[in-house]
Amino acid sequence: MTLTEIRQILEESNIRLTKSLGQNFLHDGNQLRRIVETGKLVAEDSVLEIGPGLGPLTEQLIPACQRVLAIEKDERLVSVLSKRFIESENLELIHADALAYLRREKERDWSDWKLVANLPYSVGSPILVELALAPRNPARLVATLQWEVVQRIKAKPGTKDYGVLSLLLQLGYVAESSFKVPAGCFFPRPDVASACVALQRRERPLLVGGDIDLYVKLVKVGFGQRRKVMLKLLKNLWPESALQAAYEQVGIGLQVRAEAVSVEQFVSLAQALSNNAPSK
Ligand code: SAM
Repeated sequence: MTLTEIRQILEESNIRLTKSLGQNFLHDGNQLRRIVETGKLVAEDSVLEIGPGLGPLTEQLIPACQRVLAIEKDERLVSVLSKRFIESENLELIHADALAYLRREKERDWSDWKLVANLPYSVGSPILVELALAPRNPARLVATLQWEVVQRIKAKPGTKDYGVLSLLLQLGYVAESSFKVPAGCFFPRPDVASACVALQRRERPLLVGGDIDLYVKLVKVGFGQRRKVMLKLLKNLWPESALQAAYEQVGIGLQVRAEAVSVEQFVSLAQALSNNAPSK
């Protein structure tokens, strides 16, 4: 889909773009191909696309896999898409707020699905978290987002970008690769830099069931005040003696801040607390 085609469709359909919906459309063929390639699609794949817009990615996904489920919030774009892809039998188009949809469909089995999407930036992180923490989460997440969000997703302990988002996504996934998508590849040009990130689901989950909820709680409370000693924050929720025992079991110092604690250490802390300590 070229820039000329995008302008033409918008004009013919009398659509003025809505900034709050993050409507920056990708028109660079090389970047679109690279995003689809990063999905590592095979013919049997089911692909979830969130925010198809005018369909530049959708038109490449349709021939590359068995099934595409595309969720778009803007009714005007849904109407354009349903005409454009009227003959594509393997496309299911849903008019919905994707975040609300995913929350409703929390129990759905996404385990054989891959996400390939140029996400709406205002809800990109919560959408990824929702999918990543779903009980049967997708095999692969390939998403274009703000460049600085991608840095947070990939971040390692001890860096300024490391935080809640890194820990919630890296629990179930390994950040495999990422690349910059120049602002000039979008229409209109976004104000912020963009990048595409590929997250591959871990072969074996590090945690299951209720321990995942405990991990999420530990991470969120532990990062409540980034510069504060984590133990002081966690004491609001667990007895200090239980926390000290768990810290010793995991082998982390009592003075540590959350930003220095790895995914594996948070996992071990969650397991230790789940076995030994009631929360307050
Ligand atoms: N995929 C298209 C492309 O690459 O050109 C469009 C990407 S654009 C960055 C984001 C799209 O997400 C827009 O079409 C916008 O209307 C849609 N969108 C915004 N918020 C949404 C939401 N909560 N649920 C579903 N779609 C949403």
